[in-house]
Amino acid sequence: MKTGDIINWYPGHMKKISNKLLEIVKQIDIIIELVDARAPNSTRNLFFKKIIKNKIHILVYMKSDLADLSKIKISNNINLVSIKKKKSIDNLVNKIIHFSKNKITKVLIVGIPNVGKSSLINSILNKKVVKSFNKPGVTRGFQWLNFNNKFYLLDTPGVLPIKYSNSNYNIAILNGIKEKLIPVIDLSEYAYSYITNYYPDLYKKRYKEIKNNSNDSFKYISEIRGIKNDKSLNFESSRIIFLNDIKNGKLGKLFLEINQL
Ligand code: GDP
Repeated sequence: MKTGDIINWYPGHMKKISNKLLEIVKQIDIIIELVDARAPNSTRNLFFKKIIKNKIHILVYMKSDLADLSKIKISNNINLVSIKKKKSIDNLVNKIIHFSKNKITKVLIVGIPNVGKSSLINSILNKKVVKSFNKPGVTRGFQWLNFNNKFYLLDTPGVLPIKYSNSNYNIAILNGIKEKLIPVIDLSEYAYSYITNYYPDLYKKRYKEIKNNSNDSFKYISEIRGIKNDKSLNFESSRIIFLNDIKNGKLGKLFLEINQL
């Protein structure tokens, strides 16, 4: 796969969801748009611009507990939020109430799959009302949820950008698209080169050494992790471990767009 190739992946049901969003937005007052704090540009779907238009817009950098905040340019319109930091949830609720101006408000939550929409809603409502899955592509419907009779939240299924270019692997790394759409080798090569370049210390802290080339490094991970069944030439199991460690924050706090700054 060459960098810049357009991958044909857009699932049919997302077109339907986009149309439904365009319809529903007519009755909405506030739109909360979620992006992943570790890659805020790559995980932003420009389609949402169409529905935001003249609505009150709150941009949330979600999963901020996993992000290298030193690399994020914080400004007034960026809200760093994490389900692990109650204060960040309270701040967001206060912002919604502030914008609601004492009338019952309808709030739409949008974002790509797996960015944390249902987790955010559950944290705001302080109970598990929406199922959260760590897998992209799990479809769900639209549902209204009432917060103390102050505002209503509408959870929506994730929508990915229509065109996905592999010049930007970050959505895949952060698990916004189904595994296997991009070969593990391609994705892990990209991630390896990025992490060893920008976060060599975090890499060494977790996997001890950076070898001369990626294959040797993945071979080494295989050895230190005692992976006995990895007979493939490319050490696919180690590559998957590496990708999962990035996604789940095991490698440390990251920012994946330093090369775009
Ligand atoms: P959705 O598809 O946008 O609704 O995403 P989910 O709410 O299902 O979240 C996807 C995964 O990200 C789940 O495993 C969540 O536990 C995890 N997650 C969501 N928000 C946060 C956060 O603020 N911090 C961390 N560390 N994990 C989060």
